Amino acid sequence: MSYLQSYTRDELATLLMPVCRKAALKRRKHATEEVREAYAQKKSHYHAKQIFSLHYQQHIHSWDEMTDLSKAMREWLKQHVQIFSLDTLTEQRSEDGTMKFLWQLPDKKTVESVIIPATGNDAHITEEGNQFRGTKNEAALKPDNWDRMTICISSQVGCAMACKFCLTGVQGFDRQLEVHEIVTQVAQLARTYPLSNIVFMGMGEPLHNPDAVIKACKIFRDDAGLSFSRRRVTVSTSGLVPQIDRLREETDVTLAISLSGTHDPQREEIMPVNKKWPLNELLDACRRFQGNGKVWITFEYVMLKDVNDTLEDAARLADILEGIRAKVNLIPFNPFPGSIYDRSDPEQVQRFKNALIEKGVFTSVRISRGQDIFAACGQLRSAFGTARGTEKHAPSLQSPPQQKNH
Ligand code: SF4
Repeated sequence: MSYLQSYTRDELATLLMPVCRKAALKRRKHATEEVREAYAQKKSHYHAKQIFSLHYQQHIHSWDEMTDLSKAMREWLKQHVQIFSLDTLTEQRSEDGTMKFLWQLPDKKTVESVIIPATGNDAHITEEGNQFRGTKNEAALKPDNWDRMTICISSQVGCAMACKFCLTGVQGFDRQLEVHEIVTQVAQLARTYPLSNIVFMGMGEPLHNPDAVIKACKIFRDDAGLSFSRRRVTVSTSGLVPQIDRLREETDVTLAISLSGTHDPQREEIMPVNKKWPLNELLDACRRFQGNGKVWITFEYVMLKDVNDTLEDAARLADILEGIRAKVNLIPFNPFPGSIYDRSDPEQVQRFKNALIEKGVFTSVRISRGQDIFAACGQLRSAFGTARGTEKHAPSLQSPPQQKNH
């Protein structure tokens, strides 16, 4: 038995071929083999499209209720393909509207998704300011004013990248999520919430699970299904260079880089992945990703007091991003018990931001959302987490929030 949400539309069409061949034999009895095969091909694509629409757009999640399909097709599907669903262990809502969902996977492991509603004011480049106009005003808190609803999804249970500012890294890697486990985080919540954007910024390094993530992106983009535009699906990575190239070759989604360092010794210290793929290789991959197109790449920069927050860092950051259509998102670090870093002073964050803007770099400071339910960026946690590797990082287990910054 396989899961519907594991298939791209073409794969589903291929899967449906046996049942469509049967129908072709019945309906094109006297036709040549070739004609019957062509008929079956056409039918299989037609039905795959129909099923995508019924499940992802009309939110029907039982074969019996897909009455647009023939009875024979429904019976065949019931025997061969299961419609996957995730169990919700907890669902929390922040006073600012942010929602956090803790999912239980079939093997009892858990991951989280967060929905972040926002007004247009939250993250638009202002004409005059060359910067994001982050607001935390009253209007932004009212559902009637929300015009974007971003879902932040997980791609792994735990993470192997061990970024030192991140509690998911501290938790260690347990396992990859399967395609259907990634897709269902979105499909299931899309039944209730008008999701507008998807970001792979939950648990895990998405490009450490490239097969599943790339396939999930294709399913998210499919216009017969969830139909997210390319700009509304963002994969955020700590910098796995070969997989950035693969993402560019196999999808057209948007890229974000968790940077947090402006030279190799500094970044290696903060993010061990830099030892394997140093900054120049990472930034070259970003240039290849952009090509001659007009896509922007977001660079997330966790601001760590006296580590990477000097004005020299700001100048270096502007220099290394030269030639890349870059948006920089500054993320004030949330310290946790046992963490070796402190949060940069707000005045220093402002000075850093101004220095970048003066150099012509689009820059924002990320506004924390959902802090009261530990759903803010950098605060995801896995309260029921079972990832391996937790013991060897025992000091951080006492801390409630999971620092998650890409
Ligand atoms: S920041 Fe991302 S890549 Fe780094 S440890 Fe955390 S989840 Fe993994």
